[in-house]
Amino acid sequence: MTSFACLLAALAALAGTPPGVYSCEPPDTPPPPPLPEGSDRFPVLCYHSIDTGGELSVSARRFRNDLEQLESEGFFLITPEDLSNGLVRLPAGRSPVMITFDDGWQSQFNYLRRPDGSLEIDPRCAVGILEEFCDSHPDFGRGAVFFISFDKIPFGQQEYIEQKFNFLLDRGYCIGNHSARHRSFMGMGADSWGPALTGAQEAVKKYVGIRLGGMYAAAWPGGMIPEGARVDERLSTISFEGIPSAGLGFVVDGALADLGSLRSASGRLRISRMDMALSSVTRLLGHRGFYRPETWREDLHSPMPFSAVPLD
Ligand SMILES: [Zn+2]
Repeated sequence: MTSFACLLAALAALAGTPPGVYSCEPPDTPPPPPLPEGSDRFPVLCYHSIDTGGELSVSARRFRNDLEQLESEGFFLITPEDLSNGLVRLPAGRSPVMITFDDGWQSQFNYLRRPDGSLEIDPRCAVGILEEFCDSHPDFGRGAVFFISFDKIPFGQQEYIEQKFNFLLDRGYCIGNHSARHRSFMGMGADSWGPALTGAQEAVKKYVGIRLGGMYAAAWPGGMIPEGARVDERLSTISFEGIPSAGLGFVVDGALADLGSLRSASGRLRISRMDMALSSVTRLLGHRGFYRPETWREDLHSPMPFSAVPLD
């Protein structure tokens, strides 16, 4: 290799993977197990790119159709904050659904520059689709989680990272932790777990300052973490400036999440998600018995529909 070629290779390595190219191994997602019956289940959907370019991509049209179907079936968008505060925003007669995006691909949040120099959100990126859909369907609620790793430029446009992160927080979305370098926790030594999680929080803090307080949910790179009480104890104690790094942790296993399991550390760190490149809303709707409170609290002293999830 010439020295110039070496320099180019070194620069490419420094710049990280170009957006739109998968640097991660596909999540280790087995075929979805039969959906369980029950009344405390809710779906957490996992998307990667919103385009047609990658193995785990879902097209913009398909993503919008998913939203249409979920809304018409009576779902309501929630975020990790809602799990922490007892689902207080959930309207009676609606079922919670959480929409999550992994890796921070540009097709999740893309700015276009108009001829006059101003910026607009690409109407075909995930945020553009969500904003339009939620504005026109207020009963669906608002919010989604963007799990960010720093092995690449978050959302692909270096110059707009700060603007994008703060736009998301302004509009009720959540920034989640997908670790600093997107290495699987399955093969990593336990001593590396802390820096992998706090490194991402530290990087996000540079752009959002004290708004980092809401970044306490993590999606495990590759979709899984080791089992065991010692693992749970260790992961539960990692924090950055007093903010739990993995107050809630999300796997990809094709199953429905279970509100009841959130009361244990093991359950909080392994909240089930369905990879929507491998599943569909139609398949999801084959399940009956989603959590759906039919009556709402009469006043502020009535019990919450679901007791708050402790974060430690
Ligand atoms: Zn990932």
